[in-house]
Amino acid sequence: MAKKIYPEGSKKVNPLVKEVWGSKIKQSPSKNKHISYSSISTYTKCPKLWELQYLRKSIPFTQNIYTVFGTAMHETIQEWLTVMYYESVKSSNEINLHDLLYANMIKAYKSGKAQMNHEHFSTQDELTQFWIEGKHILDFLVKNRTSYFSTKTMKLAGIETLLYQELKPGVVFKGLVDLVFYHPVNDSWTIIDIKTSTSGWRDNQKKNPNLTAQVILYKEFFAKQFNIPKEKINVEFFIVKRRVPKDADFASMQRRVQEFKPNDGPRKTKQVIDQMNKFISEVIDDNGDFIDREYTCNNPFGKCEHCTPFVN
Ligand SMILES: [Zn+2]
Repeated sequence: MAKKIYPEGSKKVNPLVKEVWGSKIKQSPSKNKHISYSSISTYTKCPKLWELQYLRKSIPFTQNIYTVFGTAMHETIQEWLTVMYYESVKSSNEINLHDLLYANMIKAYKSGKAQMNHEHFSTQDELTQFWIEGKHILDFLVKNRTSYFSTKTMKLAGIETLLYQELKPGVVFKGLVDLVFYHPVNDSWTIIDIKTSTSGWRDNQKKNPNLTAQVILYKEFFAKQFNIPKEKINVEFFIVKRRVPKDADFASMQRRVQEFKPNDGPRKTKQVIDQMNKFISEVIDDNGDFIDREYTCNNPFGKCEHCTPFVN
């Protein structure tokens, strides 16, 4: 597929849009230690769990129907949007999204199965059920495309945009942003993380600082990497719901999409940065290596819901 964005000669294209788009093809030098958001967030939740997962690597990363569906839905939406913005809306309408989702689910399942010692971790019935729910999400997106993805007022600037920023010598934060949009009208940007969910986020998720920290951190690094003022960057979770109530009282409850913009003000941002710095100072030594010691759970009783299944 041609990766040429916005035909040459088209007016007023912010050159940064091309720079953001190009960020995904950069190769990252492997001698660096890469720190992901999930590593930091695991440590914040429970240092013991972090130790077992990231230092000892004694907890295998497990695959399940949710990870398969999440991966497949991400890829399907990203492919659809790429064609929409980089070819034409017409071409994007011609994609059979149901088939694409199915193919992506099979692909994700196969690669998950390979990671799980080739053992099955779902059933045909379960996969079919998730596929049917996924088709409803895609149908909703196509039907309501212009409410979410205008090709007139927004430019797709990034898919899987690589954020790659040094935290200390040899230690680099690495993150991939699902979607980046540029809004030429007011010269602003939106960083979007797609989440798949059963029936949407409720207060306990919206107020979970460990969940919302992700896009706030991404915003910090995005601003730094592309030298864009933070005031021009918005953050959003684009949550797609597998289930909606049939007899919902409010039309909003029947939407398959929930857009959630977490608080990303200065105070909140400072908390997130402080947490990251705490992680770096407690876990990484001067050579850029993880400090090999015993870490303790935050819980005064020595165990929490996160680490209990893995400690004696
Ligand atoms: Zn714990």
